[in-house]
Amino acid sequence: MQKLAVGIDIGGTNTVYGFVTETGLCLSHSSFYTPNYPIFENFVRELSLQIRLNFKAFEDEYELIGVGVGAPNANYLSGCIEHAVNLSWDKHLPLVKLLGDHLALPVHLTNDANAAALGEMFYGSAKGMSNFMLVTLGTGLGCGIVLDGKIFNGHEGYAGEMGHIIIRDQGRSCSCGRKGCLETYVSATGIKRTVSKFLAKYDEQSVLRDIPFNKISAKKLAVAAYGGDKVAIEAFEYTGRLLGRTLANVAAMNNPEAIFLSGGLAKAGDLILKPTQYHMEENLLSVLKGKMKLELSSLETNAGVMGSAALVFANGY
Ligand SMILES: [Zn+2]
Repeated sequence: MQKLAVGIDIGGTNTVYGFVTETGLCLSHSSFYTPNYPIFENFVRELSLQIRLNFKAFEDEYELIGVGVGAPNANYLSGCIEHAVNLSWDKHLPLVKLLGDHLALPVHLTNDANAAALGEMFYGSAKGMSNFMLVTLGTGLGCGIVLDGKIFNGHEGYAGEMGHIIIRDQGRSCSCGRKGCLETYVSATGIKRTVSKFLAKYDEQSVLRDIPFNKISAKKLAVAAYGGDKVAIEAFEYTGRLLGRTLANVAAMNNPEAIFLSGGLAKAGDLILKPTQYHMEENLLSVLKGKMKLELSSLETNAGVMGSAALVFANGY
């Protein structure tokens, strides 16, 4: 029988799960609205139920060997989701234990950025690379670091919190309680804050003036920028400058072969990639110049599910 893994991507809005083969074929995927389950135990029970039910379609041909989960603020070493600001449950959620009890299968948990990095390594453009980073640009900014072929967890599992590198003295307030963190500027939320600042500061005409702040999205900004909107273009340039410079600094620490960008803001394509590339290259140490690739993730569809499933085939890390 062929082996099959369940990959689960838990987000504040949706929880997506899918059945993935060892060669990276996603046989089916489903999702449900995470806030429908305000009690964590009920969420885990529902998830287990759906997985058992949907696996029936494949049980004659496949053996289910494990479950991989990617979630914000998930800790690989403790098996818990800890202090996730965009999930409404308690501060300490023992997901590996609970899901393992329900499904009687090995469960591996890691944060969403590490899962995306694993997906890139197993099924995407990082195949065969031993040293690379993947940066997720979503509500916040996360980073999966692969060193010598393995995800780097750090002493307690908190490595890769690049979103909370402080880049501005007394800068924008961050959800972590501090000020000036990278993700308050460089993320889908960060670029919105930049746009609203630019709109207040400049008289420039902009289609963005007609959109209420909470309706602005990375996608709408990209559409405006491709349509020639100067405020939107400048916001991408500003965001790319800050990201590029930070990546150059981080590269001085771990000398990666490549850095991949993924998540909602990365879907803006060249609008974010080009200025980031330019400012990274400008600020790189001379020994690293011209040698480091910066690319968009090749796994934009079901990246979270694929990456979490890869965690099973990697048998943890
Ligand atoms: Zn922060």
